[in-house]
Amino acid sequence: MIVLIINAGSSSLKYQLLNMVNSSVDIVNNAVETDSVMASGIVERIGEPQGKLTHKKISGKDNTKFVKEQEIKDHGIAMHLAVAMLTDKAAGVINSINEIDAIGHRVVQGGEKFNSSILIDHSVKKAIRANYPLAPLHNPPNLTGIEVAESLFPSIPNIAVFDTEFHQTIPQKAFMYALPYEFYEQFRVRRYGFHGTSHKFVSNSAAVLMKSKKDKLNLITVHLGNGCSICAIEKGRCVDTSMGMTPLAGVMMGTRTGDIDPAIQKYLLDYTGFNAEELDNVFNKKSGLKGICGMNDMRDIHAAVNTGNELAKLALEMFTYQIKKYIGAYFAVLGHVDGIIFTAGIGENDTIAREMICSNLTGLGIELDPVKNREGEGISESRAIHSESSSVEIWVIPTNEELQIAREVTHIIKKTQK
Ligand code: AMP
Repeated sequence: MIVLIINAGSSSLKYQLLNMVNSSVDIVNNAVETDSVMASGIVERIGEPQGKLTHKKISGKDNTKFVKEQEIKDHGIAMHLAVAMLTDKAAGVINSINEIDAIGHRVVQGGEKFNSSILIDHSVKKAIRANYPLAPLHNPPNLTGIEVAESLFPSIPNIAVFDTEFHQTIPQKAFMYALPYEFYEQFRVRRYGFHGTSHKFVSNSAAVLMKSKKDKLNLITVHLGNGCSICAIEKGRCVDTSMGMTPLAGVMMGTRTGDIDPAIQKYLLDYTGFNAEELDNVFNKKSGLKGICGMNDMRDIHAAVNTGNELAKLALEMFTYQIKKYIGAYFAVLGHVDGIIFTAGIGENDTIAREMICSNLTGLGIELDPVKNREGEGISESRAIHSESSSVEIWVIPTNEELQIAREVTHIIKKTQK
């Protein structure tokens, strides 16, 4: 089965074409199917005078890069260009668009309506639109991507995979905010959580690697990339997560505040001269690691720490401390933890951050093996990094949200064919 994955942003469109070689995918029992990425790409600066498409044709471990620079007026043209690359003589990997069996769309906010991926029809699109107020930067371009795909390829089924769906098992006591109850009823103010596809992918993979069934495992999954979120997963079901109604909550991130006292907002509105929108921009784009030390890439921060930069050191200490606190909190939530899983850019690559996060947790049975932690540096492979005496397993598992989306798509298509 050949699956096209679309992730449409406000001015960009990412795509990936996967061949799900073994179509008997069993995501429930974690059968790991063979799959291969045939091509991937990104169209950037859609709507600006100078747009850019970067396309990779992938063959085994080799890939060939193709770049096109031209004005790309809208998402329709972006999609046309991407498809032209997929079927191009030199850059292409399929002869015709008819070889694509299904299209999977990443949709950020599914609200309370969707607790699983779904074949897109009129009512699904209506629900995605109804969630615009909850994700004004993401859901509108996500829906544009769907509508463009529908008009270009009317005979190919489209499937929506929601970032929020994995978190729909969180109990009400954990998803409610202590605000007047009617704010939840009238304005849908609650914790939704994000990065669900990533948490789902790594927790499924963890069950396979830990040679267990996911409904037997309690896990804490720690997704540390540009955005960061942590999940408490009890027997395969998410029971709490650090991001909230928006992806601003939880631990501090590259440029986002994470949890702060809500009264700080009014205080700053009163005293800084910023208006609400400007302050929102500061909280989202100028805070987090960047707010503390001026850098948001962890590699730069380590380099600066090595030259004695005190603010870089502080940013790193704050970051790892906040993550450690969440691990402690989720340990209490779960009662018993079988595994801690690190993933995404920092989680997969940063040996120092992992060491700092896991330090002094032997009281909880969490013991990192410093040698194993360093051994896999630069290798994008799943590996165990706990010591022999650790009662909690610690794993690094590279995330693959596109593959998880493709798995969901394959699962749904097979179900509809039955
Ligand atoms: P992601 O959002 O998952 O792509 O993660 C991106 C972030 O991962 C970057 O901004 C870096 O902070 C971090 N990162 C990537 N590679 C490394 C590395 N080798 N060491 C530390 N941090 C890294």
